[in-house]
Amino acid sequence: SSTDRQSVIKCKAAVAWEPRKPLSIEDVEVAPPKVHEVRIKIVATGVCHTDLEYLYGAGKAMKFRPFPLVLGHEAAGIVESVGPEVTKFSPGDKVIPLFLPQCGECERCRSPKTNQCRKNWANTQVGVLADGTSRISCKGQQVYQFLGVSSFSQYTVVPDTSLAKIRSDAPLDKVCLLGCGVSTGYGAAINTGKVEKDSSCAVFGLGAVGLAAIMGCKVAGATRIIGVDINTAKFEKAKEFGASECVNPNQCSRPIQEVLVDMTGGGVDYALECVGSPGVMSAALESTIDAWGTCVIAGWTETEAMSVVVEKILMGRTLKGTYFGGWKSVEGVPKLVDDYMNKKLKLDEFITNILPLDQINVAFADMTSGNSIRTVISLSTEETSG
Ligand code: NAD
Ligand code: ZN
Ligand code: ZN
Repeated sequence: SSTDRQSVIKCKAAVAWEPRKPLSIEDVEVAPPKVHEVRIKIVATGVCHTDLEYLYGAGKAMKFRPFPLVLGHEAAGIVESVGPEVTKFSPGDKVIPLFLPQCGECERCRSPKTNQCRKNWANTQVGVLADGTSRISCKGQQVYQFLGVSSFSQYTVVPDTSLAKIRSDAPLDKVCLLGCGVSTGYGAAINTGKVEKDSSCAVFGLGAVGLAAIMGCKVAGATRIIGVDINTAKFEKAKEFGASECVNPNQCSRPIQEVLVDMTGGGVDYALECVGSPGVMSAALESTIDAWGTCVIAGWTETEAMSVVVEKILMGRTLKGTYFGGWKSVEGVPKLVDDYMNKKLKLDEFITNILPLDQINVAFADMTSGNSIRTVISLSTEETSG
């Protein structure tokens, strides 16, 4: 195998050649890491709704990103080699790549108010690293890197500010979920919503992000946690995670916000939107109590607007958004790994299927049909050559 830091690694990756087409498994070449970059062997990656949306909603709900593209941003792996001037990582380290960096130096990193580090931001959004190019190529063509990560590849290269080093006993096939969905939902409740003890909460959308939000509400001591989903099959798991009751808006004769207001005698203290639909976002806001209700948007859409009746805000409600659950990524992720290892945080329960890379389109289909919570893709390195 190719472990020489100067060499190009040949391996398998799932390439998105164009929007709205299934991924295709290709032999790709992964170039050595440049200055302040780290090449990692991806061991496991979750498939997140955002991957699906960037592929099938490209140019619609999501801005159009350049193709061909290697998607995937919820992963864990092992450092294979490091580029010049990398001081915090060495080959063999267990790591979680981060779609949101924490450089530790910019104004935002120095502020306790936000996790929105802007290091390499513009390049990351267009699928390239700091020098304006990607490290992945296929058939002689540059393949863009999704959110600076691209974990649907057996190897990838990321900036050293977009990587969290984690403890050596962490199971990578589980902690990969802390690279996005679980950290996002959990942090949406505890960091962004700041859910309080004895409060009432409504969580819209019971996928991985929503279930993690329920877990956060429960850890924060909420007494009433109402799960909301149009797929009743999601209710059982939501209750396992701590939902006290669940409601299907399609089985209600009135708008879901009215149902929730009645159920709680005025509205919930916290509503968390984990769907990514503007209509659901408005309903979530309107399901909170006037005077102090807080609505947190975790669902992701880039081009659409949600409607807000001014009076809803005027009366004292708060509307907030969350990106990566408000965690400062490099510091936050290893702590979340500790919480999992100390059994304070569930991860195994999110995983409904484990598939090899060549079955990745099945993971997309299962997410679309609602048959899965999280599929974890196991990236065997046996096919690696070169
Ligand atoms: P998912 O597809 O697994 O789950 C979404 C759930 O919403 C499903 O159970 C679906 O049945 C339900 N749903 C659909 N329409 C609904 C409606 N009208 N009312 C109630 N429920 C409805 O997705 P996921 O991976 O959990 O991601 C959820 C959202 O969070 C996506 O929009 C994703 O892009 C976003 N996300 C945001 C961040 C962030 O940093 N803010 C990070 C990760 C994911
Ligand atoms: Zn994600
Ligand atoms: Zn920064």
